[in-house]
Amino acid sequence: MADHRKVYFSLAFLSVMSFLATACGEGSSSPAQENPEPRNSPPTRPAFSTPVPATPNVAPTTSTPTPTTALPPVAGPIVVGTSVGGLPLEVYRFGDGPSRRMIVAGIHGGYEWNTIALAEELINLIAAEPGLIPPEVTLYVLPSLNPDGEARSHGYDGRANDNGVDLNRNFPHGWQGNWPKTGCWSFRPIHGGAHPASEPETQALIRFLLSQQIEALISYHSAGLGIFAGGRPLDEASVRLAEAVAAVTDYPYPPLDGGCTYTGQLADWAAANGIAAIDVELTNHYDTDFSINLRVLLTFLSWQRGRRYAGQN
Ligand SMILES: [Zn+2]
Repeated sequence: MADHRKVYFSLAFLSVMSFLATACGEGSSSPAQENPEPRNSPPTRPAFSTPVPATPNVAPTTSTPTPTTALPPVAGPIVVGTSVGGLPLEVYRFGDGPSRRMIVAGIHGGYEWNTIALAEELINLIAAEPGLIPPEVTLYVLPSLNPDGEARSHGYDGRANDNGVDLNRNFPHGWQGNWPKTGCWSFRPIHGGAHPASEPETQALIRFLLSQQIEALISYHSAGLGIFAGGRPLDEASVRLAEAVAAVTDYPYPPLDGGCTYTGQLADWAAANGIAAIDVELTNHYDTDFSINLRVLLTFLSWQRGRRYAGQN
């Protein structure tokens, strides 16, 4: 808790750490630098309620309206699964509206630890300002999908889960166990798993996204390549979401193309399952880009599927 208070109260004083901007997490194979100040033990995350089962907010599938009791505006952590290494996968819920959206960070573990730090900043912000969530929206935030990698290292060794799997290559859409490394991240041996969705982290997130009927998803990465829309071929709703988010940031969209062929990605699987999904890459491997991503958050919360925005055609 203390660690998060420190994060929260330091929002206005985000310090610039002294190491160099490093290469992106997704495609580039440019040299990257290890984080000189690793945070190698899993942080204690804030608690807004007693941990509850993963399914209290599932919409009834019956056609008869069921009287409901309003949920508290903020809840978490909700444990939705367990990593290979036995660490909990924790989700926070904000609001109780019918349009359910989700932010996932840390799919690449400690290698992209600043995405986890950003998610924690957003969690603390929304907890303090629950009115940010529109009445029609429920927002879920999963700050660390790969807690094993987060705990292991804040450098290259923190990217995989405890099975050596790149979780963003493990989803059951365009999956390959291995892939040509040309233009792709290749600082350490890494693979896509024994089979699609072989990993408990992948299984837990798929289960949550489908059971909660999530409509829109942001998956945070670092660094530098820009904004990726989900779907192969590109999914129209995901492209619209990417365009809306791009309009409030200077993150490149379309994203930079380092020549990597991406396989088994979360955003592509999500788009294939009816979820408007984008990857957003932070600028580097240490800043959270908080002010930029506050704009991203507000855009994400107000975004409406099927609606066109200024500049879109
Ligand atoms: Zn990444």
